[in-house]
Amino acid sequence: MTSLDAFATAKLDALAAQSLRRDLVHTARAAGTVVERGGRRYLSFSCNDYLNLSHHPAVLAAAREALDRYGIGSGASRLVTGNHPLYGALEERLARLKGAEAACVFGSGYLTNTGVIPALAGRGDLIVVDEWAHACIMAGSRMSGAAVHVFRHNDVAHADELLTTHRAAHRHALLLTDGVFSMDGDLAPLPALGRLARAHDAWLMADDAHGIGVLGGGRGSSYAFDEPADVPLQMGTLSKAIGAYGGYLCASRPVVELMKSRARTLVYSTGLPPPVVAAAIAALDLIAADPGLAEAPIAKARLFTRRVGLPDPQSPIVPVLVGEAEAALAASRMLAEEGYLVVAIRPPTVPAGTARLRLTFTPAHPDQDVERLADLVRERVVGNVS
Ligand code: PMP
Repeated sequence: MTSLDAFATAKLDALAAQSLRRDLVHTARAAGTVVERGGRRYLSFSCNDYLNLSHHPAVLAAAREALDRYGIGSGASRLVTGNHPLYGALEERLARLKGAEAACVFGSGYLTNTGVIPALAGRGDLIVVDEWAHACIMAGSRMSGAAVHVFRHNDVAHADELLTTHRAAHRHALLLTDGVFSMDGDLAPLPALGRLARAHDAWLMADDAHGIGVLGGGRGSSYAFDEPADVPLQMGTLSKAIGAYGGYLCASRPVVELMKSRARTLVYSTGLPPPVVAAAIAALDLIAADPGLAEAPIAKARLFTRRVGLPDPQSPIVPVLVGEAEAALAASRMLAEEGYLVVAIRPPTVPAGTARLRLTFTPAHPDQDVERLADLVRERVVGNVS
């Protein structure tokens, strides 16, 4: 065995010993929430396609039309020849939905955070970030070279303390958080963070990957409060409620213009496939035409939490904390035997000792299945957690 293979094998063995080894399982999603895995069909509660738009006929028709007209690949970076005309329509719709002056579309949400953050902050600057922020916010922060300080989850007073201590010694400051936390489904206190950022001359950026389309009448988590939050940097993804792929930043025109010169993941990465962009446009049109659509996933989540006896959900994401990784895997296997796909989330995605089932809800989940799943979780998962 080469030293390289010996290294990889030892790492894999160590991960397996802690029930932390991961695997990629083929999962065919023929339509919405029904999936096929290993020759079996399941009703899936583990997909972020919150509005089932990835299979909506109008979305598919738009993608097919773009495929025939522009082909599958964009052929180059947007700065070279990959900036096909559909980008303009998509960015205009995103800016309108988010109430921003302009928008810039990236290759994915991950590429957005790892492009935008280093374009705005570098050595000599300060980043203050929520401890539960998504991995790609952390990656962008570390890549930027700025001084990074982490505040306790949703603890505005702690963020204030860090800014008070460190702000003066740095040129610019970014305050970073998820709008909706991906593994817990709770919301960041965006209005309070907006005020805090202003008070310290920091720039607030919220990752609304799980908020767009499903909160604030579809406009996202900045609009989910009694007062709209002051978030000058609104980023998110087109891969969840929008049902397609890609990421975006909505911001002022100068900030968006700066990205075209400075965000490395935009400059040096190929543009999105035209059918994907066309699909995102069609999905945004469906969301804008029916603000009531956004309420459906959270209503299903509420049906589930009330029946299990969990607190009301703040988003369509519901965590059921189990504890140890092996116990979460066992709970997931039990639900699979009953026909439900509910994936276990383990460290390092979540902190040690907080392995969980993470459930997501969509309008296509039949009420009777939501209720049956709730009964199984209440009787055989929650009841067993010490
Ligand atoms: N931010 C958050 C909060 C996410 O949950 C995700 C996806 N897991 C991303 C960013 C990355 O988005 P994408 O999948 O489009 O790369």
